[in-house]
Amino acid sequence: MADPKGFMTTPRQDWPRRPVEERVRDWNEVYVPGALLPIIGKQADRCMDCGIPFCHEACPLGNLIPEWNDLVSREDWRAAADRLHATNNFPEFTGRLCPAPCEAGCVLAINQPAVTIKNVECAIADRAWEEGFAPPRPPERLSGKTVAVIGSGPTGLAAAQQLTRAGHTVAVYERDDRLGGLMRYGIPAFKMEKHHLERRLEQMRAEGTKFRTSTAVGRDIGADELRTRYDAVVIATGATAWRELPVSGRGLTGVHQAMEYLPLANRVCEGDLETSPLSAAGKHVVIVGGGDTGADCLGTAVREGAASVTQLDIYALPGAERDEDTEPWPTYPVRLYRLSAAHEEARDLRTAPVADADARLFAASTLRFDGDAEGHVRSLHLVEVDARRRPVDGTGRTLPADLVLLALGFTGPDRQDGLVDQLGLELEPRGTIARDAAFATNVPGVFAAGDAARGQSLIVWAIAEGRAVAAAVDRHLTGSSTLPAPIGPYDRPMAV
Ligand SMILES: Cc1cc2nc3c(=O)[nH]c(=O)nc-3n(C[C@H](O)[C@H](O)[C@H](O)COP(=O)(O)OP(=O)(O)OC[C@H]3O[C@@H](n4cnc5c(N)ncnc54)[C@H](O)[C@@H]3O)c2cc1C
Ligand code: SF4
Repeated sequence: MADPKGFMTTPRQDWPRRPVEERVRDWNEVYVPGALLPIIGKQADRCMDCGIPFCHEACPLGNLIPEWNDLVSREDWRAAADRLHATNNFPEFTGRLCPAPCEAGCVLAINQPAVTIKNVECAIADRAWEEGFAPPRPPERLSGKTVAVIGSGPTGLAAAQQLTRAGHTVAVYERDDRLGGLMRYGIPAFKMEKHHLERRLEQMRAEGTKFRTSTAVGRDIGADELRTRYDAVVIATGATAWRELPVSGRGLTGVHQAMEYLPLANRVCEGDLETSPLSAAGKHVVIVGGGDTGADCLGTAVREGAASVTQLDIYALPGAERDEDTEPWPTYPVRLYRLSAAHEEARDLRTAPVADADARLFAASTLRFDGDAEGHVRSLHLVEVDARRRPVDGTGRTLPADLVLLALGFTGPDRQDGLVDQLGLELEPRGTIARDAAFATNVPGVFAAGDAARGQSLIVWAIAEGRAVAAAVDRHLTGSSTLPAPIGPYDRPMAV
């Protein structure tokens, strides 16, 4: 701890965002470029280096947070980068995208704003790239063993990097034309510009990982063939089967799933399309679903020039402070009012005249959609609900809606490619791929990790899953492993 009084003398300061009017005119990240580095040393000084750092426990990767806070405050960026990469393959992803459960568990957060851990992580990662502290680390010798990883999201990439560095010959199979999973075509560029992804992929190629894009396992190549060709197979195919809203009018044109809409907007950013066929430009947009995917749709629709955008959340407006009875420190408070960058934009631009402040209508349940003579959606009918989701009398209302985006979460792995059936994989009752304590499925030599097995989760968990399954596969192939396993398959976020 470079400054033992830092937490008393320095207030929390976050990486400043660009002005709303400026940032909604482009797709770049919302933060002011170059504005993090000048403030981050003092922010790292706020770490108390407390005896029991609960932030460690709260971070699924077990990131060594007080250690790198100290190194940053002493400006030893090389050592900080080493300590950060010791537990996290892709800190520039989590530094931008993680909801930071570590900060909810920060001891300072008991009675003060937490240390800006996520910002410190991002600053170290970016500095590491600038200074050349993140070179490719190819293995010194090859094991002669081969592994196929199916899926190139954060789980597959983390597993592939760990196994490649351990000396195994790894090929990643990806059904999309580009690599990255939901970080590529789900998450918008204003949350993470894609060049961060490209840079890591270059590092992985230089280390020896092979990539096969536009190859759906089960459809373009048989799952059994992979089993025969490789000594082990890791399934990291995500959980992209979306939840439906079976109400009247669902079949109207203009009612789409969020993951039909977001990939097209991302393809415009990639230069594949001039404009998105589902562009929100000039339309009244209603997003059904109050989560992060819905917020990503909100930020995207605002940038596309929607006439109005409203987001519906089935839950009641949460409080500004955590509920100490149900979600006490150091757990991550799910039910807490948060203003994401997209909500800040919606609030300042008044994108939703019908909503109170930030484009959200809370405790709102969709009853039906109505369309015009051509079968195109034109309005959405909703009702306010109580805590048990019972309609409140007299609260029905109608919103104009030319584009409706359903962001209701995901139910489990997508089974259309036939991978699950071809291998005869056992599933959990909720549809995820079943596995034992060593990440092994019921099929010998086949392992499962990430959202495909855990269910819809977060990038930090996906990377932790990738690292842990790599250790299990390494042990399976060689009889022992020194690779770290930050989590077990049944570990869950801290809860009361
Ligand atoms: C819109 C959206 C925004 C999100 N934002 C955030 C955020 O800001 N922060 C955060 O922490 N989390 C976020 N998440 C969650 C996070 O993206 C996921 O938890 C994480 O990507 C899961 O990683 P994964 O590698 O297990 O799966 P995925 O990222 O889903 O990757 C799976 C990959 O497998 C491929 N695949 C599937 N089947 C096959 C097959 N048969 N053959 C070959 N390839 C196949 C898919 O094409 C995909 O590329 C978001 C999710 C969504 C949908
Ligand atoms: S990965 Fe997430 S939880 Fe872990 S230190 Fe970074 S921001 Fe915190």
